[in-house]
Amino acid sequence: MERTILHMDLDTFFVSVERKLDSRLEGKPILVGGIGDRGVVAACSYETRSFGVHSGMPMKMARNLCPEATVIRGEGGVYSKHSKEVTEIIREAVPVFEKASIDEFYADLSGMDRFQGSSYKMAQELRKRIKKEAGLPISFGLSANKLVSKVATGTAKPDNERKIEFGTEKNFLAPMLVKKIPMVGEKTSQILYNLGIKHVRTIQEMPVEMMAKVLGKNGVVLWNRANGIDETPIIPFHERKSISNERTFGKDTGDVKRMREMIRAMAENLAYQLRNGEKLTSCISVKIRYSDFNTFSKQLKIPYTSADHLLIPQVEKLFEQLHNRRMMVRLVGVTFSDLAGGNYQINIFDDSEEKLNLYQAMDFLRNRYGTDERGNSIISWGTTLGIANISSMGNPFNGEPPIIPAHRNA
Ligand SMILES: [Mg+2]
Repeated sequence: MERTILHMDLDTFFVSVERKLDSRLEGKPILVGGIGDRGVVAACSYETRSFGVHSGMPMKMARNLCPEATVIRGEGGVYSKHSKEVTEIIREAVPVFEKASIDEFYADLSGMDRFQGSSYKMAQELRKRIKKEAGLPISFGLSANKLVSKVATGTAKPDNERKIEFGTEKNFLAPMLVKKIPMVGEKTSQILYNLGIKHVRTIQEMPVEMMAKVLGKNGVVLWNRANGIDETPIIPFHERKSISNERTFGKDTGDVKRMREMIRAMAENLAYQLRNGEKLTSCISVKIRYSDFNTFSKQLKIPYTSADHLLIPQVEKLFEQLHNRRMMVRLVGVTFSDLAGGNYQINIFDDSEEKLNLYQAMDFLRNRYGTDERGNSIISWGTTLGIANISSMGNPFNGEPPIIPAHRNA
């Protein structure tokens, strides 16, 4: 069936928010990120790009390349707030949408032509509304699928829009460099380059079998993408979507240290799942069930994050506030909700390169050695080493709590 998929992306999001808050920054080169000695660039304005600056590079290097840039230490909470404001405008305007990251959205406008006159007009009106009401520049691409729309947005930027007519997807992609296809990273593009494949057209002209031979299953996906074929569905955004973990103690306990260790271990494991699924949370909650089966929970809204060092202290604080009865405790639980897609680099305003590298290294080890047959992580921070593995079975992002067999009590 023919689909109409809209992709919207806020332009240089962090920079635009800073400019909205201080109009004197308009038109000037801006760097947002960690301002410490080892800080990293989280976002940079278009004015800095001709100097060779890009996000992810050490702030020190960016400052050297573009000394006239204004450097701003970003603040996750402010960006989360603006992201949610835009989310609300989109929610009101379209029936089904996906929040792919804090500044990126997909919406399914299939069939809208029949009811609304034109899906393109509808997308234009939505863009106009976001610009006016949220005060932030945004670009969109409209086409038959997510992939082509995302690429179209990239070609429209900054602050513009582009529609790719049905049936012209292949022609649209053909002249582009292969690295413009989402999923083609540094490594894949190097492999392709070594094979003499520079442009998408070359892949289009190859038999799919040849791509499969070179890159395996990924080769087939890549061939489809190069040909503008992408069946990926919109994953509806759901504020209540959550991941959680809870544990019933084998015997009711009054040992506060043990409870604290347990919720720390659960928070740590959930944060790892977030990072693995490229998700961020903006709401955490802690649950305690006492031996009389009375259950209490407390929740806290926070800026989007998936970083242990930001989540664990808040989880502990919630636990301290919640645990106020002298009765024995039967069960403790931790839930992360209000999930959005996103990389944990969103926290790089207060992180150093070392911290980012540490997360990457730890998650690499976890991915490589760190899980048993149930998906339990074996690698953890020293402070939670005493805790038995926390189960994380099944798909953590379907909103269902993980299933913990009764015999696997702590
Ligand atoms: Mg963006």
